[in-house]
Amino acid sequence: MDALAPAHPTPMMAQYLEIKTANPDSLLFYRMGDFYEMFFEDAERASRALGIALTKRGKHLGEDIPMCGVPVERADDYLQRLIGLGFRVAVCEQTEDPKEAKKRGAKSVVRRDVVRLVTPGTLTEDALLEPRRANLLAAIARGRGEDGGFAFGLASVDVSTGAFSVGEVPVAGLGAALARLDAAEVLVPDGMIEELGAALGDSRAAVTPLARDLVDSARAETRLAKHFGVATTEAFGVLSKPELTAAAAIVGYLERTQLQNLPPLSRPAREGRGAVMEIDAATRANLELVRRLSGEREGSLLDAVDACVTAGGSRLLGQRIAGPLLDPAAITRRHDAVEALIEAPELRRFVRQTLARAPDLARAAQRIASDRGGPRDLAAIRDALGAAQALAERLATQRDAPDELIAIADALSAADHALALDLARTLADELPLLKRDGGFVRAGRSSELDAARALRDESRKVIAQLQAAYSDATDVRTLRIKHNNVLGYFIEVPQQHGERLLKPPHAETFVHRQTMAGAMRFTTTELGDLERRIAEAGDTALALELRIFESLVARVKESWETSRACADALAALDVAAGLAEVAVDLGHVRPHVDESLDFALEGARHPVVEAALKREGKPFVPNDAELSAPDGDGGLIQLVTGPNMGGKSTYLRQAALCAVLAQAGAFVPAKAARIGVVDRLFSRVGAADDLARGRSTFMVEMVETAAILNTAGPRSLVILDEIGRGTATFDGLSIAWAAIEHLHEVNRCRSLFATHFHELTALAKRLPRLRNATVRVAEWKGEVVFLHEVAPGVADRSYGIQVAKLAGLPPAVVRRAKAVLDELEAHDRASPVERMIDDLPLFAAARKAPEADADPAVEALDAIDPDALSPREALEALYRLKGLR
Ligand code: ADP
Repeated sequence: MDALAPAHPTPMMAQYLEIKTANPDSLLFYRMGDFYEMFFEDAERASRALGIALTKRGKHLGEDIPMCGVPVERADDYLQRLIGLGFRVAVCEQTEDPKEAKKRGAKSVVRRDVVRLVTPGTLTEDALLEPRRANLLAAIARGRGEDGGFAFGLASVDVSTGAFSVGEVPVAGLGAALARLDAAEVLVPDGMIEELGAALGDSRAAVTPLARDLVDSARAETRLAKHFGVATTEAFGVLSKPELTAAAAIVGYLERTQLQNLPPLSRPAREGRGAVMEIDAATRANLELVRRLSGEREGSLLDAVDACVTAGGSRLLGQRIAGPLLDPAAITRRHDAVEALIEAPELRRFVRQTLARAPDLARAAQRIASDRGGPRDLAAIRDALGAAQALAERLATQRDAPDELIAIADALSAADHALALDLARTLADELPLLKRDGGFVRAGRSSELDAARALRDESRKVIAQLQAAYSDATDVRTLRIKHNNVLGYFIEVPQQHGERLLKPPHAETFVHRQTMAGAMRFTTTELGDLERRIAEAGDTALALELRIFESLVARVKESWETSRACADALAALDVAAGLAEVAVDLGHVRPHVDESLDFALEGARHPVVEAALKREGKPFVPNDAELSAPDGDGGLIQLVTGPNMGGKSTYLRQAALCAVLAQAGAFVPAKAARIGVVDRLFSRVGAADDLARGRSTFMVEMVETAAILNTAGPRSLVILDEIGRGTATFDGLSIAWAAIEHLHEVNRCRSLFATHFHELTALAKRLPRLRNATVRVAEWKGEVVFLHEVAPGVADRSYGIQVAKLAGLPPAVVRRAKAVLDELEAHDRASPVERMIDDLPLFAAARKAPEADADPAVEALDAIDPDALSPREALEALYRLKGLR
């Protein structure tokens, strides 16, 4: 940082260095006229990152100062790219009029200050955001939770909409909770980053260390209460210590980074512990809930069921799919809304058409409320509020509407419709992007503005009128009003008439300015005024427009709470109508969700695979699944065998996806579905090597399997696909075997287990809740035909060679493989497992053996205290023990 140690920097450089020193972690965008400029190392890094020219500007300590700049007009583009590349940017603006600086002295520098830190989690600009995805900033704090044990407080805010929520997660649940939020930026107390590495590593979030004073639990309550202007945070419900600390950390961070335009936040909504299905990061990724493994949204479950017509609707649906509910009553409420909209197709059509015209109210209102908005944001609010009113009126006519729709209608009608009216009356038809371009206020809104504009636009006409008036008054037909840069506007008359104007009565009106060859030039007070007014008219018009803009901004801020609630209601309505549309179009059915341990799907499909096949004109074969716990005891395990490509993975995944959809409040792709609430979802399905973290496929598989076996409980749903594939056959088989026994005896959860180890099907003899199923295959002229039908029973063959042949293995290799297989099978018909199955005690039995029938030798051994024995007694004890054998 030697370069930053000023010797005799110019005043401007001194200012730059001072501000830069205060913001060492961010690129500093230093405002110079129409550019943001960067210097020194910032310039080098930014020019590399953005591919823009690196130049020089002056010298510092005898060395050239590297510099690069981006035009203010296009700053959003550059910011987006820099944020995407993981930079943080401090935006430093001029905070006074340059004229003021001049008044202080010729060498004074315009005051500048950082007005905002742009970080991944604090964006509000449309250009910087994905419309259909929430952009969350999260904060973590640790402390004693509501039950007295250690827990994490996890707060999150979408700065682009102001939605703020907070909850408590058990220590082991942090990774899953973070994966669900999928935040763009996570604030972590400085000392905890390393320790939380695993939980943080699974998320794509940028991690920002939090200074100690921002995670001060003692001051959290005061900070929050002060921010929201309440006497105590009890107004938000009772928050636990870690919740308070996390919420306060977010507020503190925003206060510190957003400085001049602090975006408004809703009061933190408390999310009860255990309100949503726990889905760990690996399961979430494997099941491709909201995005594919490769990252894109297309091809995810969300994409398959998202028919929303608004960005807000898509964002809400994404959050619901990411966090399915556990409370059957809340789930039923959502289903009721979807069903009502299915049953009323007219209403649904009206709702969707109206919503399609409703812009992104939440984000537009947020930009306006944080003084970052433009005229088009006001128009967005106008149109969205207009749509809300139309929808509120229509919903009011609906008889027997379910609770959810009534709540939506209430929020829609509570919106500030007077504001919508005001906006409609004020805003022009064509709107500029920036308020400083002017021209966004409709003619007729303000007579003062109309006059100013008339003056500006119709100056010629006004001058012509004045010229006619003067010509009449002086009787000089050739009197002209002209303009030049020296005199501005002036009146010109031929010499002989000019003399006349120098005398009364005209001399009172006309003031002589210039005498030319053959002509004289005059001015009048009126013309002077007119000239000034014309010159100022443009400025005046703009100032008047800006004043009107500010008054509208104030109105938007006043009704921010109701607008936000209205935006939420619009989104919820869009989700319900979209899901209804999907249910009708794709034949999804209302699932029955309750507190039982049932899990029964009839004619279920995989929504994503089904859609893909449909595009190719191929049918999807529906299948049933039954995992319901008999007598509510332990869940069933379905063991699915069958050849590769038979449809096993698809079958497993569709069961998990149906659970997610059902509890998210959607209908499910099936003929009928009955699901007892699933509180945790686990999946172990073919993962790719996690080479980035130095883990082989097998290691990843085992880590994930371990997590499942260690934590799955009676309400969990587990799908395990091809466990033990990545190692030697007997190793793999043994691991799969033990895993099934463990699931059956210990976890006792509803499970689906796909395997290519046919030997495992023999376990059904010993495990009463294990059911064998197989994907059916037909052979036709020596070729395999996959029927994709899951039926009870066991696959007779594995068809590996046929599948290999289908894949295009050279015929010679296929022939040879067949010969080898025949040979192997001739030697060993009875599999070792068949032989073992009756001998090997069950997993649980093996575990329980020591307690069950205690060994007298062991008991005797337990009774011996070696420290209390003499050498002789020890020898006797040894003989006694020997005798017990
Ligand atoms: P496996 O896990 O047994 O190897 P997959 O589940 O990966 O098989 O399925 C292989 C392919 O078969 C899928 O990509 C899909 O195109 C097709 N498929 C799977 N299930 C079905 C089904 N129920 N109906 C129609 N096609 C299916």
